[in-house]
Amino acid sequence: MVVRGEGGVAQAEIRRRNLSRMLRHLHLNGSSSRSELATELHLNRSTVASLIGELIARNLVWERSRPKGLPQAPGRPSPVVELRSKGPEALAVELSTDWIGAAVIGLGGRVIDSIRHDRSLAGTDPARIVDEVHGLAGSLIEGLSNESRIVAIGVSVPGAVRAVDGYLRHAPNLGWRDVPMGDLLRERFRKLDVPVFIGNDADLAASAEHLRGSGRGSNDFICLWGEGGIGAGIVVGGRSLAGAAGYAGEVGHLTVDPNGDLCHCGARGCWEAEVGEEALLRRSGRDPLGGTEALADLLASADRGDEVALAALAESGRWLGIGLAGLVNVFNPSCVALGGLYARIFPQVQEAVVCELDARAMPAPRAMVELTTAQLGANTLLLGAAEMALAPTLYDPTIVPVMGATGRDHSDKWRTRRAPSVGRPERQPQQVRR
Ligand SMILES: [Zn+2]
Repeated sequence: MVVRGEGGVAQAEIRRRNLSRMLRHLHLNGSSSRSELATELHLNRSTVASLIGELIARNLVWERSRPKGLPQAPGRPSPVVELRSKGPEALAVELSTDWIGAAVIGLGGRVIDSIRHDRSLAGTDPARIVDEVHGLAGSLIEGLSNESRIVAIGVSVPGAVRAVDGYLRHAPNLGWRDVPMGDLLRERFRKLDVPVFIGNDADLAASAEHLRGSGRGSNDFICLWGEGGIGAGIVVGGRSLAGAAGYAGEVGHLTVDPNGDLCHCGARGCWEAEVGEEALLRRSGRDPLGGTEALADLLASADRGDEVALAALAESGRWLGIGLAGLVNVFNPSCVALGGLYARIFPQVQEAVVCELDARAMPAPRAMVELTTAQLGANTLLLGAAEMALAPTLYDPTIVPVMGATGRDHSDKWRTRRAPSVGRPERQPQQVRR
């Protein structure tokens, strides 16, 4: 048995941290030359060379010579380091009010394939939805190459999720309460034998937008997200606000009118009851439960200049601005992005939102906040779910097995489509042949 002294442990930890920083840099910024990595990560050239060597051995990156024509620092040409296209992948799943989405996403936020099934999830049986997710994911995985390496599953849900085990306490717009979502998914996907992570949709949207979209470069960022309801992913000082158990950010259930309408959460006068999809449809004279079709119809009417539709949007925009002003006062964000439903209606509600924001937010935080829309489009939640699933690999790249000393790629011990095995790299891989 090898016993490591304290110095060895410290050295291993420094090494782990530097591997993590390098892999994360490539994950977020794309290809970089050795010299750029040395500068960006404040490391000397020999350390950079050694770290790259280890990431190559773990099949995470590769090096190629610098293409002609690109600017080149004086001295020896510096090769370009790139993420391998056949690196670890996440199975990302999105449970939305009106659809189920799934995608396989690699490091660097590369969407390899995706699929979406439109159906309302409100009032459904969670176990049945988990079965549908399994079927949808199965058809997605079936189309992947044999070299695909899914190392974890990340799932976005529109509700309050306990971070430690993915227990869903309440998803008001789906009518789900106390669902052991983590356990259900782990059981249903047990053949894949990979870790399963569950996250709140607004938190995951904020994570993706903060890393790759509208919030990039902002340390104090809020992403307001919702399809049926509304929630917020809040980044404070560069860190996501989670709360004691992961439930933070449920801004949709701030009371804005004590005598207002009943909310799906059971309380009265929540912000969500004023700005959610149902309120918007009701104001426009449509069926509040009309879903995506009714919403598309409303937006088309607004585009044609229909006064009832425009008034309904302006009233929702007014309530959106009222709540937003409070968030700006509390968190002093430099950027607020509206996503999901709120990005789609932004052009029609912007004027009303800005009017309330100007009237109600304190002048100093109001003056410095940029109001924008989410930039990652339809993939925002899937990218956020993948980010969550790939976080352990990014934190510690040494969990990815080294290729054999002979140079043979042992990735077949992970999982392939035909031989779905595998799992957590630190465990003995278990092969399942069929
Ligand atoms: Zn509520």
